[in-house]
Parts: sequence; structure tokens; C-alpha cells
Amino acid sequence: MNEAAKYQTTDTLDRSIRDLRVSVTDRCNFRCIYCMPREIFGTGYKFVPRNDLLKLEEIARITRLFAGHGVRKVRITGGEPMIRRNLERLIEMLRDIDGVTDISMTTNASMLTLKRAQSLRAAGLNRINISLDAIDEQTFQRINDVDFPVAKVLEGIDNAHAAGFDTMKVNAVIRRGYNEHSILPLAQHFYGTGIVLRFIEFMDVGTTNKWNLEEVISAAELVEIIDKEMPIESLQPNYSGEVAKRWRYSDGGGEVGFITSVTQSFCGDCSRARLSAVGKVYTCLFAATGQDLRGMLRAGASDEELSRLIGRIWSQREDRYSELRGQIPVTTETPPRVEMSHIGG
Ligand code: SF4
Repeated sequence: MNEAAKYQTTDTLDRSIRDLRVSVTDRCNFRCIYCMPREIFGTGYKFVPRNDLLKLEEIARITRLFAGHGVRKVRITGGEPMIRRNLERLIEMLRDIDGVTDISMTTNASMLTLKRAQSLRAAGLNRINISLDAIDEQTFQRINDVDFPVAKVLEGIDNAHAAGFDTMKVNAVIRRGYNEHSILPLAQHFYGTGIVLRFIEFMDVGTTNKWNLEEVISAAELVEIIDKEMPIESLQPNYSGEVAKRWRYSDGGGEVGFITSVTQSFCGDCSRARLSAVGKVYTCLFAATGQDLRGMLRAGASDEELSRLIGRIWSQREDRYSELRGQIPVTTETPPRVEMSHIGG
């Protein structure tokens, strides 16, 4: 039976499920201050034991069942996904799933040698998004907090390009007081390269990054800062549910995007589910709890039973955190939101 044609599951707000973000590890070699601040994720932090991680075959099986509910696009995330061994094997298995038409990965490019970029490409990876929050060494190292050189990340970007990843995106989280001075240097660096630079509003993901609204530079401010020096104009989305707001340089220098979760929410057509590295399904980036699939899977559940659970999880989904941000009363009972390093961005 062709899994892809089985169900077209929608949630309580009639949103279909098209994207699955798969975290393959909660580990990372960076300690970015807006995601894995060292004071929490430093010495003594207990990462998930390897045996508790979903096996690659288990990830592929669960993804196949999600494809049965309408998933077409799979994004591999972490932590830092390239820390997980045998990624190429996983990508090959994902590539062979009926209905999955696009496999991408978000990485900090710190391990993206030309050889790895080529083997990921050969395994079937379609696209790579690279996280880079500054172009000058001092700011970059202040944000990644592991003294990792920016030149190595830029080399990773070149390697990905040389390996044939010609639709690349670079994501930069901008936090007031940390890297707003990097906005124009980043734009100037990627101008005319064909790489789409996307600025991400600093988000209150998890509960460890000391988020506050004061430190958010809104997309409107970002557009103003860039437009003053490098005139830009807005573009129509490529498809409904596209995460980034698309703009382009008026003189043809390429595209630049803005991910506006804080100031212009996009929950209305959010079609993204997230699978954590330990097999929990989260129906929102800002969720507090996920629903476990690993237990049933390892207890011998059939595809039918697991697929029914996936359908139930999505069809009961009501999430629209960004739309309601600030309106949801927070009490001592409010469970902490899941950390981004557990479910990917
Ligand atoms: S806040 Fe949640 S529901 Fe809204 S767009 Fe983000 S992941 Fe989707």
C-alpha cells in the first residue's frame, strides 16, 4: 500500500501536516546563548544516553507513518545533527519513503567538510540550512560561546555549494545587545551569492535563554535597517505556510528573509510537527510536553497502531503559541517549554 496516499490528517484549526522536523540528537558542539546557554548546558549537564535515542531505522519507520498522514518534507535537526553517526544511512532510508519529496538539514556547518557535503548529497539530501549569527570573529564567538572560528563555518558553506547544494539558506538569530551590528555585514556578505540570508527574531523557545521582549529586534526594524543601505522589496510567499517572509534586493542582488515568530505570528497555516531524538512528538516549537511513540514502538506496536496514535496526536492539535504569546497566563503550574536543542528549530 502506498503510504503517501493513506490519510490527509488535519488538526482542530484545519491545518494539514506536511513538515516533520526530526531531531537526531540533543547534543551540540556549540553553546549558542539563545539555545544552549553554557550555564545550563555546561559541565555536568546530562545529555540523552545513546540507547535512549531513537535508532535510525526507528526514525525512518516513524517518518514513513507520518508520510501516511500527509508529511512531504522532512528536516533533520538536533542539537547539531552532524554529531549523529551514519546520517547518510538515515537520509537514504528517508529518501526511499513514498510521499517524502524533500529532505533538508539545519546545521552549524562546523563539521561540513567537502567530503561530508558530497556524501550527504549523494545519500539524497536536497537542501542545507546553515546557522550563522555574525560574520566577525568576536561577535560570532561571543554567541556560539565555544570560540569556534567563523572562517570554518564559511568554509562549510563553500563546501556545501561545491557539493551541489545550490539552494542554500543561512539563518541568523538577531538579539539586541549582542549582534545587531552584524545585520548589515551579514547582508553585505551574502548579497549577490545566491544564498538566501534569513534573519530570525529572537524567540522565547524553552526556558533557559533568558528571553525578554526588549532584546527582540522586530522584522520591521530589520527591514528598515537593511532597506536604508540596501533597498529591498517584499515578495509573495512560495507556498502557504512558508516560514520566512520573503524580500529581495531591488537591484537584483538576491533574496533576504525574515522569520517573525514574535511580531508577526504565522500559526494560521503551521503544518510542522516535531519528533524529538527520544521519540516524542511535539506539535509546536513552544510546546511543553510531547507524546511518546518510542515506548509503543519498542513494545512491538504495529504500523496501524502507531499510525492511529500519530493521527490522534495531530487531529487533537490546537497549538498557536505565537498568536497567543503574552495572553496565556503563566503560573507556577505552567510546565516549562521544551528546549529547542531537544526538538530542533
Ligand atoms: S508557534 Fe507553534 S503553532 Fe505557531 S507557527 Fe510556531 S510551531 Fe507553529
